[in-house]
Amino acid sequence: ARYEAWYERHAGASKALAAEAEQYIPGGVQHNLALNEPWPLAVRAAEGAYLTDLDGNRYIDFLQAGGPTVLGSNYAPVREKVLELLASCGPVTGMLHEYEVKLARLIHDFMPAVQRFRMLGSGTEGVMAAVRAARAYTGKQHIVKIGGAYHGWSDQVVYGLRIPGTGSLEATGIPAGALERTHELAPGDGDALGALLDKLEQDGGTAAVIVEPVGPESGTHPAAPGYNAHVRELCDRHGALLVFDEVVTGFRLGMGGAQGYFGVTPDLTVFGKCVAGGYPAAGGVGGRQQVMDVFAGGLTAAGQRVFVGGTLSANPLSCAAGYHALAEMDRTGAPARAGAAGDRLRAGLEALIAARDLPYVTYNFGSIVHLHTSGVLHLTLDDPDFFAELGPRRDMLGHMSTAFAAEGVITLAGSRLYTSMADTDEVVDEALAAFARVFAQ
Ligand code: PLP
Repeated sequence: ARYEAWYERHAGASKALAAEAEQYIPGGVQHNLALNEPWPLAVRAAEGAYLTDLDGNRYIDFLQAGGPTVLGSNYAPVREKVLELLASCGPVTGMLHEYEVKLARLIHDFMPAVQRFRMLGSGTEGVMAAVRAARAYTGKQHIVKIGGAYHGWSDQVVYGLRIPGTGSLEATGIPAGALERTHELAPGDGDALGALLDKLEQDGGTAAVIVEPVGPESGTHPAAPGYNAHVRELCDRHGALLVFDEVVTGFRLGMGGAQGYFGVTPDLTVFGKCVAGGYPAAGGVGGRQQVMDVFAGGLTAAGQRVFVGGTLSANPLSCAAGYHALAEMDRTGAPARAGAAGDRLRAGLEALIAARDLPYVTYNFGSIVHLHTSGVLHLTLDDPDFFAELGPRRDMLGHMSTAFAAEGVITLAGSRLYTSMADTDEVVDEALAAFARVFAQ
């Protein structure tokens, strides 16, 4: 009731726009991250660490668009380069542009395993291309993913994989047949992965194992130390390709991504978010030359070529934005600075939780900060029941996203906070004061 009253009093313009949106847009919102029901907020301006809504309320922005902006929102030096590009050739021509080459070369500099890079329109498309390339290159059919992992919304690797027909949000509309050759395993269970790969050998073998290297849903279930290296070994033993989905971690954990962070080299890497520097359209796949050559028209094991594409794929605007953002992130040390802000935020939240003995848990991978409520006191990540306790209660923090917003902090569904280079100590401390006010209530 308290926050409903806040919304009525302070967010009238957002409320009016949301009401109009319902007349023309299904459910009144185009973007899942904006769902924030029942009190959607509409943005007027974003810059650095802050957002301003239509009513003029100012917020610290830990949503950061869902992760693509390690430099902070609407970073001026990148924006200027994008405007120059728009003035010279507009956003898209369909012809080769030097920024395509510059971006691919820069990615290779940061991630040597990405010998060839194909720019696409989204992380979802990057995953689709990786799966198709792996099947074409290996001549095998089966794909293995980890439970709880999000790899976009294509049919074959959908979130909540084994639940078509249950009416769940992600599975509705997907025929069970689309998932016949996709297998899902519990997070962290290397033995089960070995056994599954053995079993699939009897049925033509596995084309690829796809993982989020920090753990499914980008670290909600953190990967155990050594897990990625173990998956690499198992893939090698079975002739399966290892695909790292670095849509979240790519360039955010460091310019070398999670593959640099863990020292494990995948065959293919999927990109999204940061690869276009916070601009649309952000996605792609890269990796070993022999595998990536399936996109060049070379013959695959099965003697086939792989088609991927898109009218706006690799448009000069996305490539220019990605190139200048990545170069600027490298020059400024943005991933490390954003990571230090994440460490400070997590430590501050930990102190607030301990001071009030709240049933929350927080942890971070650099600038990817998790905050979950378990409903159980003093639960830690090492507790064997951690995820069982967490699962049914995750929604609680979703409801808290509005409470955080009313106190001046925007989060991703109340449970994920992306920090950026713009989050100075002062910004983080201002956010912690807001969290303290919510926790006090
Ligand atoms: N993979 C991961 C790990 C993601 O977090 C996401 C999106 O959040 C995707 C893939 C899909 O990327 P996109 O939203 O660009 O389609």
